[in-house]
Amino acid sequence: MADAGHRGKARLKKYAQKRNFKKTAEPSGKASTARQAKTKARQLIFVIQKHAARRLHWDFRLEWQGTLRSWAVPKGPSLDPADRRLAVEVEDHPIAYAKFAGDIPKGEYGGGHVDIWDNGSWKPIGDADKGLKKGHLEFELAGKKRGGGWHLVGTRMQGKQQQWLLMKGKDEFARMAADADVIDAGLADQPNRLPKAEKTAPAAKAESAPKSRSARTKGS
Ligand code: MN
Repeated sequence: MADAGHRGKARLKKYAQKRNFKKTAEPSGKASTARQAKTKARQLIFVIQKHAARRLHWDFRLEWQGTLRSWAVPKGPSLDPADRRLAVEVEDHPIAYAKFAGDIPKGEYGGGHVDIWDNGSWKPIGDADKGLKKGHLEFELAGKKRGGGWHLVGTRMQGKQQQWLLMKGKDEFARMAADADVIDAGLADQPNRLPKAEKTAPAAKAESAPKSRSARTKGS
């Protein structure tokens, strides 16, 4: 049976294929094996990176078995349990990516600015392996901007990549509509990007699948 290090390496193949490490300062992931061995002795980390690629999105990453499982969330994680945020599964990233911030050169994969928007530790509720496989991961976050219970639920929306919905659980960390979205998602500093449509739409309605999935997820 492959140990976490080997499994991690295999899961990072796509990540490495998409990038030219002579041109981007993103971590290659080659140096992460030592840390993987210690995984059991410490808390699992999570990071949310605000990525101003061709389309602004938030990259949500959870450490699991030696890599960062990753989802691109076009509207960011909302604190309102009624919001179901599309989260497109993307390739695993190396653990070292959790500390990456800076500019990916234009023309390279995901070209644009990356900020660390939130980070901290996370813990699965129940069996995370099962949850990831069957498409319902329940977990808790302990970050600066995002805490408490969350759900990632797999959808049957068709696309190159698996599409999930990211939802806040109902607890003391939850917030309603306006508070949950505009301010906390970091959109307030970009007035031209305020999600006006969503404010008038029924809050519980799931987002529709993007028109062009390949375009939507490119550069995540
Ligand atoms: Mn991205």
